[in-house]
Amino acid sequence: MIVDLRSDTVTKPTAGMLEAMFNAKIGDDVFGEDESVNELEQKAAAMFGMEAGIFCPSGTMTNQIAIKCFTQPLDELIADQTAHIYRYEGGGIAFNSAVSTRLLNGYRGIITPEMIEPEINAENVHYPRTSLVVLENTVNKGGGSCYSLEQIKPVAALCRRKGLKLHLDGARIFNALIHTGDKAIDYGKYFDGISVCLSKGLGAPVGSVFLSDHDTIKYARRVRKVLGGGMRQAGFLAAAGSYALDHHVERLKIDHAHAQILAGELSKCRQVSSVLTPETNLILFDTVEPANAFLQKLAEKGIKANATDTHRIRFVLHLDVHPEQVEYVSGVLKSFS
Ligand SMILES: *Cc1c(COP(=O)(O)O)cnc(C)c1O
Repeated sequence: MIVDLRSDTVTKPTAGMLEAMFNAKIGDDVFGEDESVNELEQKAAAMFGMEAGIFCPSGTMTNQIAIKCFTQPLDELIADQTAHIYRYEGGGIAFNSAVSTRLLNGYRGIITPEMIEPEINAENVHYPRTSLVVLENTVNKGGGSCYSLEQIKPVAALCRRKGLKLHLDGARIFNALIHTGDKAIDYGKYFDGISVCLSKGLGAPVGSVFLSDHDTIKYARRVRKVLGGGMRQAGFLAAAGSYALDHHVERLKIDHAHAQILAGELSKCRQVSSVLTPETNLILFDTVEPANAFLQKLAEKGIKANATDTHRIRFVLHLDVHPEQVEYVSGVLKSFS
């Protein structure tokens, strides 16, 4: 048996999703004429209580567009040191927006108003102008840790008071919503922009949406074009995204339950020194031996995963990991003990 726990991006479209793609109404989206793209953008915006949306090829692009929309060159943004926008987007903050980054040390990537406020620069010609705060929910490098809306509200209040924009890297926002019980519709009140990935746990093959107000999305269309992200008959992909929003959100709780089962087995495993308690579909755990040695043992049993550090491994649960595969991985972990 092969079990791929490397990432929730490895999923393949389901039969229902393929059918939705096959039947998509398409047109030239750069002319604004692709019905499926327009439908996805409107659907996603409405879900989050936002005015408008823009469909992009990746979450990196939606985040980078958001940063460009919410800053001017010479500005500074504030984010946690684990942030995807900083670590895993190729240095795009500096390249695309000519903006510097102030990093905070949150707990599992979660930052608070008390941490943010002292890092906001005073008005002074020596200092870059702080103009944006970016939160990530769930936090990838925090092992899928979540903000609740109650934690977000005071951050949003601080940003309003200080005149800062607030962006959400919501690559896995639906995992957070399933865990916390918060409602997507309430998010629009607190964020100026939201990125949502359709190609992670939701199982679409490609795509993310950036949500904001009408004026910001109008400008975002210019930025997407200059980044080369103006796709033409993108409706085939957008249809997959719409299908994912309609059919693959509730089932994320299955992935979360699977993560709990595997975390339980890992914590009993002698070669595992500690497991970060999973809240959603990601498990981070530390190994006694080097991570690569442990990964090799897993690979011999057909289990694929990635190391995130010399002694740290990440397991990711998703749509294409079925209950019998979770049982199989549990059995393999038991056999190691
Ligand atoms: C995956 C991910 C993204 C976007 O990645 P792409 O591969 O560019 O779609 C953004 N933020 C976080 C936290 C992610 O995990």
